[in-house]
Amino acid sequence: MILTDTHSHIYSEEFSQDQDQMMQRAFDAGVQRIFVPAIDSNYAEAMFAIEKKYPENVFLMMGLHPTYVKENFEEELAFVESELNRRKYFAVGEIGIDLFWDKTFLKQQQEAFQRQIQLAKKHKLPINIHCRDAFDEVFEVLESEKAHDLFGIFHCFTGNFQQAQQAISYGMKLGIGGVATFKNGKIDQFLSEIPIKNIVLETDSPYLAPIPHRGKRNESSYVKLVAEKLALIYNLPIEKIAAITTENSKEIFGV
Ligand SMILES: [Zn+2]
Repeated sequence: MILTDTHSHIYSEEFSQDQDQMMQRAFDAGVQRIFVPAIDSNYAEAMFAIEKKYPENVFLMMGLHPTYVKENFEEELAFVESELNRRKYFAVGEIGIDLFWDKTFLKQQQEAFQRQIQLAKKHKLPINIHCRDAFDEVFEVLESEKAHDLFGIFHCFTGNFQQAQQAISYGMKLGIGGVATFKNGKIDQFLSEIPIKNIVLETDSPYLAPIPHRGKRNESSYVKLVAEKLALIYNLPIEKIAAITTENSKEIFGV
């Protein structure tokens, strides 16, 4: 069984004490493919370091995370652009809009999101969307960038059925993680109505650990718990869930 974690911050300082053991637990759980979103330029070295250790298993993205869009966002976007020109990345992400923490830079977040979508199109790459308390704002940008070459993953999808259909209409697959296992997570109630070809698995480690680890540090091996939950929702064996969602991730990332 091969599981794919399409969103995991394995380079996080949260793993500084046991990064190798964390990776081994992922491999032991069948998680052989881990896609790694960027945050900002400060994390680049740590991303390159873990990629170098596990070149067969680790696939890097490049992008500026919306909560890191600040006064210096032009500099950060220039870094993203130069990196995309310099070497291979598998997606532009994570990018999007986050109004949960701070609305100060909404305009800049919208601009950074749109410009990074345009970079993804230029490099023929998928995008990895972060959206928190900002469905209307994210959809507004996606609507203006809607095209055949717009595609990617709506990471940590937590919207309703109608929002799920709208995300899919823009060429997105839904990144489903620990929230699907929460009692009040809500998405488990309509997910079975979404064809599974639109679903990929993720953890968002070290955040959003699934039940029974909720509130604790998350790690890529726990993507298996998400797969188990989807096996219940779709009434399919876990091996089938793993195979289909891994195939879906290949369709997006090209590997
Ligand atoms: Zn993330």
